[in-house]
Amino acid sequence: MASNKRLLMLPGDGIGPEVMREVRRVIEWMDKRRAVSFDLSEDLVGGSAIDAHGTPLTDETMTTAMEADAVLLGAVGGPKWDNLPFDQKPERGLLRLRKEMDLYANLRPAMCFDALVDASSLKPELVSGLDIMIVRELTAGVYFGEPRGIETLPNGQRKGINTQTYTTSEIRRVCRVAYELAQKRDNRVCSVEKANVMESGVLWREEAQWVHDQEFAGVELGHMYADNCAMQLVRAPKQFDVIVTDNLFGDMLSDCAAMLTGSLGMLPSASLGDTDATGRRRALFEPVHGSAPDIAGQDLANPIAMLLSFAMALRYSFDLAEDADLIETAVQNVLAGGLRTADIMQPGKAKVSTNVMGEALVGELNKLAA
Ligand code: NAD
Repeated sequence: MASNKRLLMLPGDGIGPEVMREVRRVIEWMDKRRAVSFDLSEDLVGGSAIDAHGTPLTDETMTTAMEADAVLLGAVGGPKWDNLPFDQKPERGLLRLRKEMDLYANLRPAMCFDALVDASSLKPELVSGLDIMIVRELTAGVYFGEPRGIETLPNGQRKGINTQTYTTSEIRRVCRVAYELAQKRDNRVCSVEKANVMESGVLWREEAQWVHDQEFAGVELGHMYADNCAMQLVRAPKQFDVIVTDNLFGDMLSDCAAMLTGSLGMLPSASLGDTDATGRRRALFEPVHGSAPDIAGQDLANPIAMLLSFAMALRYSFDLAEDADLIETAVQNVLAGGLRTADIMQPGKAKVSTNVMGEALVGELNKLAA
């Protein structure tokens, strides 16, 4: 038997619990068929935690998250809590997790499953076989830099201020994550900034190069300006393997890359922090989509983004790459077999519910593991 692995599940709100249910099924399957067992706990986050405890994340849940080997989150938010003050909203629960776990590297893969090449806005030959990883710095940069605010000038005009700041260590640690990832992939990193017009970009480029030269000289490193990168992502996305970039550019470029692959219901993500003395890295895995209140409770949600997020947890927190591959292959095969949830429905395919999609995925895992 493999040793226990502490996994905290936070289904959250809306479709969160529905898609998490399908992950549970796969976990039960792994327990039975792969002899991989998890030490599972489940707790509330977001609106459901507000309803039960008056806060979007209790201190107890925060402690469990800090002690877990990985946290799997569904989604938070919904109209029921929209009118709460900003600091009491469901999203604060997620923000607290990210902040206190110090999750500075956000991994957003953009993979195109063959069966869905037609869902992309680009020509099939440009996206077929696409597999890129965007690593976005998540805890610094212009979204956090000081000074910030809106001030009124003596002449009555108003001035909005945000400040882009990066320190050596903030750049180096996220670049290390990117180089380590590249070593397990196609061994190529493209570091992206605007060194032509921003001093923080000059520093970014120098530090990315420094970490490379000192610690990862075997990885192929290129540098690109962010505007060119946006253009290249829609011109020839397959030229990239790993892209590493700051918080602001990463926000834009990861959404741009995501749409190369079709639907929100297919997109996983991971956020990683530092590794502790025991080798455990703080990590949170969640789909890119939100709680989708418009379809919540109707068995319509696509569970694949959630399941692929779990596959990322297997790969990056539990070193179970073979099991992660198995899940990704099961997704590929079920799609190739013609099953589609409503969000990725195409003519001539079979429209299925969340539950049926989950069943089909486990059925496919059974076949693959036979
Ligand atoms: P959303 O991602 O929830 O939904 C956008 C659209 O995509 C909707 O039409 C929805 O039905 C569809 N969709 C999303 N995921 C899907 C899935 N798995 N299967 C099928 N269809 C899917 O974004 P939104 O509507 O802007 O936000 C709804 C709520 O979610 C808000 O309260 C927002 O604050 C919250 N939100 C939370 C997160 C998070 O928890 N990380 C992220 C984004 C939005």
